[in-house]
Amino acid sequence: MSNDTAFPAERLREVARRRTFAIISHPDAGKTTLTEKLLLFGGAIQLAGTVKARKSSRHATSDWMEVEKQRGISVTSSVMQFEYAGHVINLLDTPGHEDFSEDTYRVLTAVDAAVMVIDAAKGVEAQTIKLLEVCRLRNTPIITFVNKLDREVREPIELIEEIESVLKIDCAPITWPIGMGKHFRGVWHLQRARLMRFTPGEDKVSAQQEVIEGLNNPALDAAFPDEVARLRGDVELIQGASAPFDLKRFLAGEQTPVFFGSAINNFGVQEILQALVEWAPPPQPRDGGTRMVQPAEPAFTGFVFKIQANMDPKHRDRIAFFRICSGRYSSGMKVSHMRLKREMKLSNALTFMANERVHMADGVAGDIIGIHNHGQLQIGDTLTEGEVLQFKGIPYFAPELFRSARSRDPMKSKQLQKGLRELGEEGAIQVFEPFSGGDLLLGAVGQLQFEVVAARLQAEYKVDAIYDAADIYTARWLTFPDEATRRNFENEQYNRMAKDVDGNPVYLATNRYNLNILMEKWPQVAFHATREHG
Ligand code: GDP
Repeated sequence: MSNDTAFPAERLREVARRRTFAIISHPDAGKTTLTEKLLLFGGAIQLAGTVKARKSSRHATSDWMEVEKQRGISVTSSVMQFEYAGHVINLLDTPGHEDFSEDTYRVLTAVDAAVMVIDAAKGVEAQTIKLLEVCRLRNTPIITFVNKLDREVREPIELIEEIESVLKIDCAPITWPIGMGKHFRGVWHLQRARLMRFTPGEDKVSAQQEVIEGLNNPALDAAFPDEVARLRGDVELIQGASAPFDLKRFLAGEQTPVFFGSAINNFGVQEILQALVEWAPPPQPRDGGTRMVQPAEPAFTGFVFKIQANMDPKHRDRIAFFRICSGRYSSGMKVSHMRLKREMKLSNALTFMANERVHMADGVAGDIIGIHNHGQLQIGDTLTEGEVLQFKGIPYFAPELFRSARSRDPMKSKQLQKGLRELGEEGAIQVFEPFSGGDLLLGAVGQLQFEVVAARLQAEYKVDAIYDAADIYTARWLTFPDEATRRNFENEQYNRMAKDVDGNPVYLATNRYNLNILMEKWPQVAFHATREHG
């Protein structure tokens, strides 16, 4: 058991001050910029620009990172911890490119809240819709940041209506913009009834921001003679038209507080941090399969939600990202690996501060630790101090793109299989082994996954593979009511059957029509488009 059972009050306090969240957005809406500014306001970095630099040059010596360098995108996902207003903030970065949405989905299973960034010129975009659907699976509370008000953008009221109708979430505006583009003057804080004045520029942290209190303050008329009438009208309209912020509904994922700003100008960023510490929930109870696990429980538990290779080219290792769900991590502790049913020693776990590795002294629920992984950990793995648990909810999604893979040099087939199996376990790609033998099949959610896998197979396993198109439309995981049905089904569909990395039976459909026919023919068989790990 943990050695701190004598200090439950202290642990409660430690847990209560954690905030673990991710930023979700469509590419280019400003996720990276906002991340950078949150770190700046959190005092984690001195100079804005760190995250950007990482995006373009940090991993330049690693081969597979070469892919992302060439594409100018970030496929890596990391964790940053910093303190703000007496709270410990864990910000989980998510890969922005849509091809890596599967990774993003998994990261979202490890957070307690999300900040949604909307580009005010574009409104709700495709990727935002998908990501919000994932948040919805767990009713994750969402804070909305409408970005780029320093540009000519769409009318704020129209944006609010779009968020409500497309994303089916109620909006409670907390700040309201005054003007936009060249005429962006600032935001009106609807709760505090005061104006925060906008001045462009990246070089200030807006503690020194100018504020005017009260809607009828003559100082407002003096400062903004052209805009004040419209502002008063807008405020009246919004307060009449939208429901006030309701903490309960926010925590239930039904309502989102909305803030307007401009991340690049450091404007509106502090309000987001404030909302996180004031409103976003501390680490939440998690479904451990047999029971709900409470974050302040003494025994250490948690799960792996992501595995990443070559985070740092100097180390050339793999890191398992692990969310602590209860108890306390301390270096050298022994834990039970649920899937392998054996003991494991946790030492030298890493935490990630502004993307620098430091060794973690201790951690509690809500914290993310990085565990050096030599193949023993997979996505979805649960570690405990002995109790049999399996945390739920980390999804695999049915791939929609398929390739078969064979080694150009037949002597290297074994090497190819090993490489693919490991990359499959890591979650970089899904790997299927056809019942009938033959080449392994790769399944991806996005095209870029194939390129990353090809580059990594070459760099890390020295295998040059040939990737052929495969005549597969999608995959479905199957569950059967009994053994006899399973045998009959598998015999009939032998040529369309495969096993995933964990040995689960999968049906590979050539097209939607055939899939539908088959589902009608076998009503007793369940076809699943997603599968949970573990
Ligand atoms: P991501 O793809 O969501 O991570 O987006 P980035 O943070 O990389 O931003 C995409 C582009 O929008 C970059 O060129 C940013 O400089 C720009 N950008 C971000 N925030 C703002 C903003 O508040 N105003 C303006 N005008 N541009 C912004």
